[in-house]
Amino acid sequence: MKRFSLLAGLLVVGALSLWATRGRTQQNVAQMEKVRDNLYVLTGGGGNTAVFITQTGVVVVDTKVRGWGNAILDKIKAVTDKPVTTIINTHTHGDHVGSNPEFPATVEVIAHENCKASMEKMPLFQTEEGKRFLPHKTYRDKMSLLSGNDRIDLYYFGRGHTGGDTIVVFPALKVAHTGDLFASKGAPIVDVNNGGSGVEYPQTLRKAVTGIHGVETVIPGHSAVTDWKAFEEYSEFMRDFVAAVEQAYKDGKTPEQAAESLKLPDKYQGYNMGRARANVMVIYNELKR
Ligand SMILES: [Zn+2]
Repeated sequence: MKRFSLLAGLLVVGALSLWATRGRTQQNVAQMEKVRDNLYVLTGGGGNTAVFITQTGVVVVDTKVRGWGNAILDKIKAVTDKPVTTIINTHTHGDHVGSNPEFPATVEVIAHENCKASMEKMPLFQTEEGKRFLPHKTYRDKMSLLSGNDRIDLYYFGRGHTGGDTIVVFPALKVAHTGDLFASKGAPIVDVNNGGSGVEYPQTLRKAVTGIHGVETVIPGHSAVTDWKAFEEYSEFMRDFVAAVEQAYKDGKTPEQAAESLKLPDKYQGYNMGRARANVMVIYNELKR
């Protein structure tokens, strides 16, 4: 009898907590940081979102994971009455495109053409509703939007994190959003299934470093706002990292030996090498072909 009531009690508690979880509307709250007078970065819920307030409306770079649309819109409403007119997606990943369908249906979505091709394969964008939030406008090498102080330059420099990574530059503000080509200081994710390349990653970054001028402030894909120097250093890090792996391959080392024996300059000491092993596998597979 005692056992029974204890069990019944547990069931009631379980049911109550389930009810409490369901009853509470889960509120996602983004953190907002001012980068310039009309440019903000929103953190939380996946990749960094940039909010650029122009004469004609608000341009949003990346929309985080699913369910964060209102969190982004709430923060925008706190700083401007202007409508969101444009979404730029830096690449296809769910933590950068996930809330596209939660924006007003009038929004124009822009991305690299390879990014669009990848997004079309995502279940999120295969429903009738979802399809409306695929990129409406794409480009191949470079594209500019708006003009004067509102101008935005989109650059594609080649394969890296994916095969359709865009770097978004706000020239008047001297700010760039790098997407996950530079997510944070560390060995990157290389998404081979969406066209990414470990071998080509360094030259893509090098082209960005030499091809973009006048940027001082950088919004990385997933880490704190930093400066152009940090992006240049990341380009050097990837050059040195991939070169070391290629040397290990030439020396006949197994991927395991390569990962264990990696020696990089001291200046990269703070870099997170948690993904080094996975990167070695990607690079080895590319070199074998
Ligand atoms: Zn990504």
